[in-house]
Amino acid sequence: MRLLAIRSKYALVGEELELVEEVELVWEGGRLVDWYPTTKKVSDLLVMPALVNAHTHLADCYFPDAWLRESLSEIVDPSKGLKRKALEEADIKEAIKMGMEALRSTGSFAAADFREGGAKGLKEALEAREEGYLPFGRVEKEEDLEEVLRLAHGLGLPEPDFPTPDLARRAAEAFKAAGKPVGLHLAEVRKEPVQKALDLGADFVVHGCFLEYEDLEELKRNGVALVVCPRSNRWFGLKPKVKEAIEVGVKLLLGSDNCTFNKPDLWRDLEASAFELRSEGAFDDEAARELLKAVTTNAEKPLGLPWKTALVEGSRWPALLMDSKLLALDRSKNKYATIVKRGGPEALVGVVGKAKLNRPWSSAGWR
Ligand SMILES: [Zn+2]
Repeated sequence: MRLLAIRSKYALVGEELELVEEVELVWEGGRLVDWYPTTKKVSDLLVMPALVNAHTHLADCYFPDAWLRESLSEIVDPSKGLKRKALEEADIKEAIKMGMEALRSTGSFAAADFREGGAKGLKEALEAREEGYLPFGRVEKEEDLEEVLRLAHGLGLPEPDFPTPDLARRAAEAFKAAGKPVGLHLAEVRKEPVQKALDLGADFVVHGCFLEYEDLEELKRNGVALVVCPRSNRWFGLKPKVKEAIEVGVKLLLGSDNCTFNKPDLWRDLEASAFELRSEGAFDDEAARELLKAVTTNAEKPLGLPWKTALVEGSRWPALLMDSKLLALDRSKNKYATIVKRGGPEALVGVVGKAKLNRPWSSAGWR
């Protein structure tokens, strides 16, 4: 079996992204088999898990920067918004390819994509055959349920009662019974009861701009994760609850959301989160570490990922090779904060996944 060893100045290892220095990491046949301290010469690298984008609408890559002045509800209303018509005319396969390409070029190797259009919408997206594309489908009509269940990675409801309370409940039950994850938009533009998500057995809720502390506590108690989309929320004048989520300790994930308004680059959402925290006096190195977990190891369970996303023994998940010199890590007094604030595609010099080095955009076969 082919071996690959990288001696790196820094690495973020394990579920908690412990920062270790001067390490040698060994992959065998694309699987991380070991890592240990080394006294040999190391490269100016930071090795860290590839990112997971926990909420996207990638089909919207087909109409970038449309509707600059329209309101959120005018655009995304699931039954009569402007987006619905635009999607009907879009080449979905092409859009998903564009979206995944943009993701990979910035170091994200999976996207939990809320796919519109029921079974038909899923089929169009799956034609793109993109590695790491995880469609969360929705059931738009009764006769679609079985097909959506078969095709989708998970259920992704645009509203808790979509399209009707009864069908939402039955779809959620079917997905849970099949061992597939359930997620939903909740409390983005107005208050909505957390109980709705709990009743559906949700694994995660998206946005939560109108959730109070006690709601976040309730999510945490029930093991439900919160996916926050900082740039998307601010674009529409909403406040992302990054500080509150970290304070309460609810499992936090980050997503770039709608591709029309934001390029799917999680580094920008990391920095946007840092700005949110700083503006409320809550940004420090530990908070930065929580943000990095939100785009890597936190995603595994709520999104039902079939991979171990931490750098741990046995993991096949791609590892990013970042230029530690460009990040100025040596001189940094707060290294997690530096990774959050200075990380970006320009520092990404390679990806290791299935023992392939420096081929960042060919991820085929790392499953
Ligand atoms: Zn969404």
